Amino acid sequence: MTKRDTSRRTSLIHGGTRRSQYGELSEAIFLTQGFVYDTAEQAEQRFIKAGEDEFIYARYGNPTLRMFEDRIAGYLGYEDAFACASGMAAVSGALMALTKAGDHVVASRALFGSCLYVLEDIMGRFGVEITLIDGTDNAAWEAAIRPDTRLVFLESISNPTLEVIDLAHVCRVAHAHGALVLVDDAMATPVFSWAKACGADLAIVSTTKHVDGQGRMLGGVICGARDLIRGPIETYIKHTGGAMNPFTAWTHLKALETMELRVRAQAQGALDLAQALADHPALSSVRYPTHAAHPQHALARKQADYGGTVLTIDVKGGQESCFRVLNALQLILISNNFADAKSIATHPATTTHQRLPQEQKDILGITPGLIRLSVGLEDPKDLLDDLVQALEQA
Ligand SMILES: *Cc1c(COP(=O)(O)O)cnc(C)c1O
Repeated sequence: MTKRDTSRRTSLIHGGTRRSQYGELSEAIFLTQGFVYDTAEQAEQRFIKAGEDEFIYARYGNPTLRMFEDRIAGYLGYEDAFACASGMAAVSGALMALTKAGDHVVASRALFGSCLYVLEDIMGRFGVEITLIDGTDNAAWEAAIRPDTRLVFLESISNPTLEVIDLAHVCRVAHAHGALVLVDDAMATPVFSWAKACGADLAIVSTTKHVDGQGRMLGGVICGARDLIRGPIETYIKHTGGAMNPFTAWTHLKALETMELRVRAQAQGALDLAQALADHPALSSVRYPTHAAHPQHALARKQADYGGTVLTIDVKGGQESCFRVLNALQLILISNNFADAKSIATHPATTTHQRLPQEQKDILGITPGLIRLSVGLEDPKDLLDDLVQALEQA
């Protein structure tokens, strides 16, 4: 059976494997900075053009990283990938590699805080013009994208308010103007990513989230066509130092083997919790992208089977009541992470999004009662019991 014949799930186990002369079963970790050459001529040749299985320096590439890059790229349907030190190294690397002074960028305003900082503060400082829009409004993309728009950037599902973007529409409009589409796919998860199917040029994944899935490693990856990945993106990142560590790549390779099982179970758990809490009297809203109570559930369902592993609940009675609920949780942990095997509750208004001005919070729907719930791998019944007893304190 050729690699092409295998299903996506099988590709998570076998994709990208490179075996050394020892024929190891589990992927080898090449914890090395450099590589040696048989002759001076061979070194010279490799610096002219390194072949498929030839490496020079770990900041440029490494066999363990290459295995991880090939495995995740194949899984997401892209030709190639570049692995980075964190999700933000991937986001900032891709944005900086593809823009220059005078370029115009359109982005959805419901962005992760660090992405917003890179776009507005850093890229603005280098003369890139940014237009932020309501990404859920299809007409707003048409209105904002111009002939000089170099790229568009968006979160396929926004953090923390779980807005869903009509990616096929955005890709159509952007491509009509020759702009590239970069998708931050952290919340959608690699398992339910629809970036490639909709025509996104680059899918950027914070592998810190569902790829690791167990709260250990920071990582990120940029997936796309080979000419972009091995062209401007590799050139920028290898010289600026954002490459992933081989140990991280090795843990990610092992984590990919179980990713579908984990993420599908977590997504089903999130959907079940949304269903079970939908009519709870202490809540003013419950949101999960593919659940019927989400205003964009039809679009979310058209794009993917599940809307990630996170749901939001809005506790009536504002921050005070919301904090009583958070403090009454006995199993679910208070943290600002998501996608862990351990379930996590976050209060975005006072933590991850604390610094946003109130008017921005209002626009994005980050209310004082909003809790972001990342569903882990515990027994779903235990999670529901914990939430129901905590909500009695509201
Ligand atoms: C976590 C996250 C990032 C950043 O990833 P790190 O691995 O923490 O650098 C970027 N975008 C989104 C949407 C995220 O959730």
